[in-house]
Amino acid sequence: MTAYQRQFLGMLIWTPLALAQSAPQHEAALAQNAPERELAHDVLKELIEINTTDSSGDNTRAAEAMAARFRSAGFAASDIHVLAPVARKGNVIVRLHGSSTTLKPILFLGHLDVVEARRDDWTFDPFKLVEQDGYIYGRGTQDMKTDDALLVTTFIRLKQEGFVPVRDIVLALTADEEGGEHNGVQWLLKEHRNLIDADYCINADAGGGQIKNGKRLLMGVQAAEKTFASFRLTVRNRGGHSSLPVKDNAIYELADGLARLEKSDFPPRLNEVSRSFFERMAGISTGQLAADFRGVARNPPDNASVERLSRESYYNAVLRTTCVPTLLKGGHAENALPQLAEAVVNCRMVPDDTAGTIKDTLISVLNDPKIVVTPVDEVSASPFSPLRTDVLNAITAATDTIWPRVPVVPLMETGATDGKYLRLAGIPAYGVSALFIDVDDIRAHGKDERIGEQSFYDGVRFDYQLVKRLVGR
Ligand SMILES: [Zn+2]
Repeated sequence: MTAYQRQFLGMLIWTPLALAQSAPQHEAALAQNAPERELAHDVLKELIEINTTDSSGDNTRAAEAMAARFRSAGFAASDIHVLAPVARKGNVIVRLHGSSTTLKPILFLGHLDVVEARRDDWTFDPFKLVEQDGYIYGRGTQDMKTDDALLVTTFIRLKQEGFVPVRDIVLALTADEEGGEHNGVQWLLKEHRNLIDADYCINADAGGGQIKNGKRLLMGVQAAEKTFASFRLTVRNRGGHSSLPVKDNAIYELADGLARLEKSDFPPRLNEVSRSFFERMAGISTGQLAADFRGVARNPPDNASVERLSRESYYNAVLRTTCVPTLLKGGHAENALPQLAEAVVNCRMVPDDTAGTIKDTLISVLNDPKIVVTPVDEVSASPFSPLRTDVLNAITAATDTIWPRVPVVPLMETGATDGKYLRLAGIPAYGVSALFIDVDDIRAHGKDERIGEQSFYDGVRFDYQLVKRLVGR
């Protein structure tokens, strides 16, 4: 789901300072024939060409293919696990042992499944790796088989180098992040927690680099995400014949309530991650925008800054919990007074809110006891991951090695990833994709999905640097 974050930031009116470097087409310094580049390319090709869609694909086949690569790279059979709750929904886990017996492992996470892709909708076969004009095409190139291939390559490379990390590192590539009934992360936490238990997780399905107009703007680290929570608003009435209308009407009452909701905003509620996002954005912006970023990061936030930034949907979504009506139905006949009017309001909760407080707020905003508010599902907000300096320093150092002067910016994602299950289970998660993607060329889940070759090969170097800086000596 990583693409959403990139897309939303891409909609911003950017006034970047001249410090972000431009994205060169080729880096002469790069060893063009480095074996790890070839390996990464092979792994990516293999992953793309194994269909892992929910409808007709086979995640287990992809998991087995990666397990075979780990075996031939020298990982012990006891350190490789392919585990599947049902056929076609396999997950693969591999462990590289570290020297410490007391430090908990670091988990690296990716998902192997991809969104459906129809041959008729695409210029190329979505399940064949195609290279053209500096791009690699195929379903999953952005979300997220390229990052999977980079992590697999890094683990194999480290194993073959005889690298001993200061603590265990674990790689889990899972099923059903994009949908389906067998989410690998949830299932592994429930059934095989010992295999993936960790001090924290690096989730390659979130965060990552953003390019705009050929410039590398920032490297995002997703350290929080909002939680999806829907509520049903129901108004009932005894109804009657529409030739004899009365003032109490279920549709009017619901509509009046929704109008009150439209005019009300949840209060701004920042956490460590979103505050740090605004502070860092202030550092790479200019003028009123920079002043407003600083204004909202203050405690308490500056009201005028909150008001100005709230006009932009992305900043508004980072500032607060949002609730918006998304479904509406009512009445049963053209000639009858409605006995029922119903709306579904979809809320996206910031980490510190709870479904209970959102419901109470909705009830007070709707301000009509005839509108009954019920949660559609049980939900718990996912806590944010504390911005650990050791983690951020490693990400910053790795970023600086590959892309000097590109700033690292913590993000709170307005959508959702598997990171939320880990955070809820007490394992902080940091979304760090190794890829730079042009914010005007987001093709995840879409047609002719592609990744720049330069971005791919830079990613080979970045993941290696990142792991070395997290668990090297
Ligand atoms: Zn994804």
